[in-house]
Amino acid sequence: MFKTLRREFMVVNTLLIFILLCAALTGAYIVTWFRIEQVSTQVMTRYTAMPAGLIGHQPENPRLFVSTIDPSTYKYVQDIVDSNIFKYFNTHYANDCFSTSQTDRILSKIINESEDMSTVRVDDNYYRYFKHQMDPNTIQIVVLENTGDVRNLRSMRDLLLSIAAGSLILILFVSKFITDRSVKPIEEMHKRQMDFFADISHELKTPLTIAITNLAVVESHKDQTVASQEKWLGFLKEQLHRLSSLVNEMIYLESLALHDSSREREKIDFSTMLTRYIKSMAALIEERKLAFNVDIEAGVYFYAETEAMTRVISVLVENAIKYTPEGGTVDIVLRQSAKKIVFSVKNSGEGIESVHIPRLFDRLYRVQKCRSTHQGGKGLGLAIAKSVVERYSGTISVRSELGRHTTFTVTLPKDNGKNNSGVN
Ligand code: ATP
Ligand code: MG
Repeated sequence: MFKTLRREFMVVNTLLIFILLCAALTGAYIVTWFRIEQVSTQVMTRYTAMPAGLIGHQPENPRLFVSTIDPSTYKYVQDIVDSNIFKYFNTHYANDCFSTSQTDRILSKIINESEDMSTVRVDDNYYRYFKHQMDPNTIQIVVLENTGDVRNLRSMRDLLLSIAAGSLILILFVSKFITDRSVKPIEEMHKRQMDFFADISHELKTPLTIAITNLAVVESHKDQTVASQEKWLGFLKEQLHRLSSLVNEMIYLESLALHDSSREREKIDFSTMLTRYIKSMAALIEERKLAFNVDIEAGVYFYAETEAMTRVISVLVENAIKYTPEGGTVDIVLRQSAKKIVFSVKNSGEGIESVHIPRLFDRLYRVQKCRSTHQGGKGLGLAIAKSVVERYSGTISVRSELGRHTTFTVTLPKDNGKNNSGVN
């Protein structure tokens, strides 16, 4: 699927850039050609109206001559083939660079041309001419040598063609680069979605299978009392609880993405909320013999939804309790400055390997799947925390030193409207 997408993207990209480049080069060529024609037309027009006596005495001295002939002789010379027609014309030269025979060959060619103004090629040289009837008795032909212009235009055309051909290779490389950069995030997103689908299938299937198996065991002992089957019913209940909590968390996560509840925000005393939460975990902290160092600045307020902020606190503190080995240390800091609130939770332990860091905040991602499941982990906590924090234009990051400690840091902006209204 991505191969085709890549190929199509590259072809369209290349064609588009190439067409644009060709259009620009053609435009440049046409403008130059038009300007050259304009200049030569201007020169010829000036000589058209010039009295014959002045033609050879102009300062700019172009390679030009003006010939005149009466209409009936003109008709006659048109019918002469391979003859010397020069003598029938009255010719005045702007300079002396034309020989008589050359003039003869040029005029022979021009009189048989149907167009009044064009360019003819004679003896490898190019001449622009303008022939017209000046008055009832005179036909005038003005001839200007423009070999240089034609050659310049031709070399310009060849140069532009080679630029276009050369650019095609360059465009292909550029296009490949752009394609890679554009398709990669889509590919990654697709891969993540596939992983998520596999994970969610697994997460749903496992408890359901266990529940069905336990139910089957209970059913196979229909004659026994509920009390005697407590063990199987207990397993069943545990799995149903896990399923229910998984579904609820998923729904909560989706609701965060779907609802913009900016009007439901209220002023939260972050300091008190955090202190209370840590106190509520005292029994667990003691049971796991953890050293909790708490440094909470008083009077840190934030405008948010209470449930959402409670989630952020509970996810990070619970993780710290869950993933710190017995007897370990947890440092919790809450600080504020004029512009931001920083909440960090650092815990000792084995740390998190760097390969896991980029995916840690993905839904259902767990570092050690078996152990985390055993510890009741669903891999949704950090995804929820990230969604909440980003909902308030904040950031959440993690730093970990293997074998030493892990720190999660939440940074929230204080200056997003309501947050600084009279609150310090
Ligand atoms: P739950 O959804 O129930 O919170 P969970 O704890 O497994 O499940 P997350 O909170 O999202 O899910 O954490 C994801 C993973 O990150 C965990 O499985 C764990 O491996 C790792 N992790 C999270 N916090 C820490 C921590 N403080 N120290 C070490 N590893 C951690
Ligand atoms: Mg967790």
